[in-house]
Amino acid sequence: MLEILPKFSELKTQTLEETLNTLIKSAKTEIEKAIPQKDLGLLQTIEDKQEMINRYFAPISALNAGKSSPELSAVYQHCLTTLSHFGTELLHHRDLFEALASIDENTLNETEKACLAYHLRDFKLEGVNLDQGTQARLKVINERLATLCHQFEENVRLSTEAFCLHIESKEKLSGLPASSLALCAEFAKQQGKPGYCVSLDFPIYYAIMQFADNRELRKTLYDAYSTRASNLSAHKDHDNGSLMIEILNLRQEMARLLGFKDYPEYSLKTKMAKDADEVLSFLTRLCKAVKPKAQEELETLKVFAKKHGLETLEAHDIPYYAEKLKQSRFSFSSEEVRQYFPAQKVVKGVFKTVGRLFALDFQAVEHADCMDESVTLYEVKSLSSETLAFLYVDLYTRQGKRQGAWMAECHNRHVFSDGSLQKPVAFLNCNFNPASNKTPALLTHDDITTLFHELGHCLHHLLTEVNLASVSGINNVAWDAVELPSQFLENWAWDFTVLTELAEHIETGESLPQTLFEKMQAAKHFNNGLFLARQLEFACFDFNLHLQQSIKTEADIQAVLDDARASIAVVKPPETNRFQNSFSHIFAGGYAAAYYSYLWAEALSADAFSLFEESDLFNKTLSQRYRKTILAQGAVKPMSELLKAYLQRETKPEALLKAYGL
Ligand SMILES: [Zn+2]
Repeated sequence: MLEILPKFSELKTQTLEETLNTLIKSAKTEIEKAIPQKDLGLLQTIEDKQEMINRYFAPISALNAGKSSPELSAVYQHCLTTLSHFGTELLHHRDLFEALASIDENTLNETEKACLAYHLRDFKLEGVNLDQGTQARLKVINERLATLCHQFEENVRLSTEAFCLHIESKEKLSGLPASSLALCAEFAKQQGKPGYCVSLDFPIYYAIMQFADNRELRKTLYDAYSTRASNLSAHKDHDNGSLMIEILNLRQEMARLLGFKDYPEYSLKTKMAKDADEVLSFLTRLCKAVKPKAQEELETLKVFAKKHGLETLEAHDIPYYAEKLKQSRFSFSSEEVRQYFPAQKVVKGVFKTVGRLFALDFQAVEHADCMDESVTLYEVKSLSSETLAFLYVDLYTRQGKRQGAWMAECHNRHVFSDGSLQKPVAFLNCNFNPASNKTPALLTHDDITTLFHELGHCLHHLLTEVNLASVSGINNVAWDAVELPSQFLENWAWDFTVLTELAEHIETGESLPQTLFEKMQAAKHFNNGLFLARQLEFACFDFNLHLQQSIKTEADIQAVLDDARASIAVVKPPETNRFQNSFSHIFAGGYAAAYYSYLWAEALSADAFSLFEESDLFNKTLSQRYRKTILAQGAVKPMSELLKAYLQRETKPEALLKAYGL
């Protein structure tokens, strides 16, 4: 079984491109040969060939993300371009599209039908079935959009970097924690100035907003931050105003050329939400429930601020007084919690917890060929000792590893045309602090939650029972539902019994005290109404903005934002606030007409978890049903159907509120 796994020690940068090119060439030839078949054979050939490329390239991507070098990175970029060209070429292959479209569906089983449908959808989203003139226009639009989105992001960056406030005396920065002061001192040093410099870089900006006693300073920073990349910024040459207008209009034009009513209809083609009405009613329902809670929290904050001598609480005062109120209510530090969680004990406990939940056994493989000696390969077995999958677990930061935590596929579960079954393999990556000379690696509670989260993604990939790569595991799962299994599993990181099994104080050997856990829970729910109100404001703004058929001026954009604020915001920002000009998620990232996805996926996972909450966290019937109806199914059926089969009822967005303690 192990021989099918990638051999990291044998990966040679020099031959990567050549091997990839050979695989692509063979894929092209075989697919071309299969076109006249116009049956399952053609679909199977595409799936086989794409998976062969994927399983070759996935470990290279993993290495580039986990332990990169300048040589590898350069070759990797080339390979990405080659792969992207290959993908585009396939999706613009009209004969291939027509051959696939003529496959008789009655000859296919459910999995094959779903697989074919995704392929055809992707061809259509590229406009393969349109006339040449339209295709040419689409190409121009796509290229222009890529440039504009890149420019948008650049303007945000340049506008952020253009701000620098020099402060000589430490007194003016009173309230700031030592670590933030050090950042400001370091920044001053870079600028060749004595004392401190304050920037709009998020860690510094947010530390000022939360901790700086100097109200004037907070206002200055707030104003600079909230006018970035706008004509109200002190640096007007990075204004995103006209870019936003052009981006929005081009997106609408593209959607219409592809046969959609508007951009949201296009965006929802790859989502679980079926239409704009469903998204809007989801958001409206949440707005109604959240607004009174947010209002209450704001009132509490106002009273607290007044007690501390502040007459009127403004937007630039909120993080500061919220932090003070939080400190006065629950005083504990993440450092304190961390002393209870040695990484080794936690990892063992997490696998035991998940094993108990889904009847699995995670066994570390000795002497596995991994990219680094700190990586562990696990064999994932059923309780009857059948090998189901493999998982690489890479927990710690290291030179050449990208930031954050993520899951990546290595092999997709797939049955090739010769009948051989390839079992799924995944990579789980985190960036925890490694052990030092003095102490073993210790995890914060955030780290533990992250570990459960990423493991949730991995299980979705590893416990699939689907036999065609592009619909197995996480592949082609609706974009707004991908975070369901990960957020779902996070809940086990918030169970006291589970945590006590992971805990062992580094000095005293004690388990986690209940009182500390209760403080952690209370802090988790602190000001969640205000947080959700803000997320809803962003989501409503994004979705309604993309519903507009024509945006002519910046005032049109502002009007949509003002509407969103009128319906949900409890904190009224000043007139000068130009948040939209730096809203990269929707103008430069992948969240256009999709910002709602954050809340959507959270609502789904909260709803899925509510069944366990109502019974018990290790209810075997429930966990088996969850595994069979959701984790095993890949993208063969729409997530709405899978969820209904698991819940045995319709979904309830309000489950989200309970999860937030509201
Ligand atoms: Zn995730």
